[in-house]
Amino acid sequence: LIQLAIPLNFIGFIYREIRQGLTDIEQMFDLLDVRAEVTDKPGAVPLAVDAGTIRFDDVHFSYDKERDILKGISFEVPAGETVAIVGPSGAGKSTISRLLFRFYDVKSGAIMIDGQDVREVTQESLRASIGMVPQDTVLFNDTIAYNIRYGCPDAGEEEVRRAAELAQISGFIEKLPEGYKAMVGERGLKLSGGEKQRVAIARTILKAPPILILDEATSALDTHTEQEIQSALDLVSRGRTTLVIAHRLSTVIGADSIIVLRDGLIAEQGTHRELLARKGLYADMWDRQREATEAEERLRRAREED
Ligand code: ATP
Repeated sequence: LIQLAIPLNFIGFIYREIRQGLTDIEQMFDLLDVRAEVTDKPGAVPLAVDAGTIRFDDVHFSYDKERDILKGISFEVPAGETVAIVGPSGAGKSTISRLLFRFYDVKSGAIMIDGQDVREVTQESLRASIGMVPQDTVLFNDTIAYNIRYGCPDAGEEEVRRAAELAQISGFIEKLPEGYKAMVGERGLKLSGGEKQRVAIARTILKAPPILILDEATSALDTHTEQEIQSALDLVSRGRTTLVIAHRLSTVIGADSIIVLRDGLIAEQGTHRELLARKGLYADMWDRQREATEAEERLRRAREED
């Protein structure tokens, strides 16, 4: 009997091991499912961008069941115009840009580009039509020219140079001993946040998409760099439908319309002047930001005098 019991125990052990293994595999598939959540619909057609009007129609979204992030968002970015989204940290601003790019699908409602639901078109065509200048640009361990050309590999040297010029980064590159052939990234030249963002702008200029998402860097840039980046961004967004995710108010003054997001809802919408006149949330944010900038300025001057 003892002789029999040992192998049975052993079989039990093997059985539990296999079951555990299967559970792990199930969990792995669950994870994979999450990643593969956004897929092309059977028979998805390429997006046909005509004018490039973006519409959010009663969009609800949550990353997990516990917390709703967007609770019914409706707005339009008319073709060729610039709409900026501002609001407190965590309000859901960047989430809006991720949904437009279809990194995730909406829980309910719809996102349309020129009347086409983004879930009905191929992801490849959607992403080819949208240029994204993200908060943090990932640079490849390759030359600066490669990094600018990324996404547009056939672009000639002159085109790359022209894009760099428009993005206000050509002066910086031309001062490097190896110029456009300088290696950047982890194992090369380390670029500052502002320089990386200008490389991303140059990349977007080359790609020349009809729709743009500008996700502004959260990290503060010095005023001069910020102005340079702002004028580069103004150039790229001219005539393109542009959604700006703004973390600083100074960059949205010129937008055709500003949406103030709070707790997943649109609290206010209007131009800079209209919103200031309303004396609501935007006007408060504006006052607070101006006070903070003035305080910083005083501190800087005091340091300089020391
Ligand atoms: P900020 O100005 O600080 O960048 P934001 O308004 O852009 O903020 P989002 O990045 O849209 O905010 O995030 C909205 C909320 O969703 C935050 O509370 C954040 O913690 C949460 N969130 C963001 N990404 C994820 C994710 N991948 N999984 C779960 N929750 C997330």
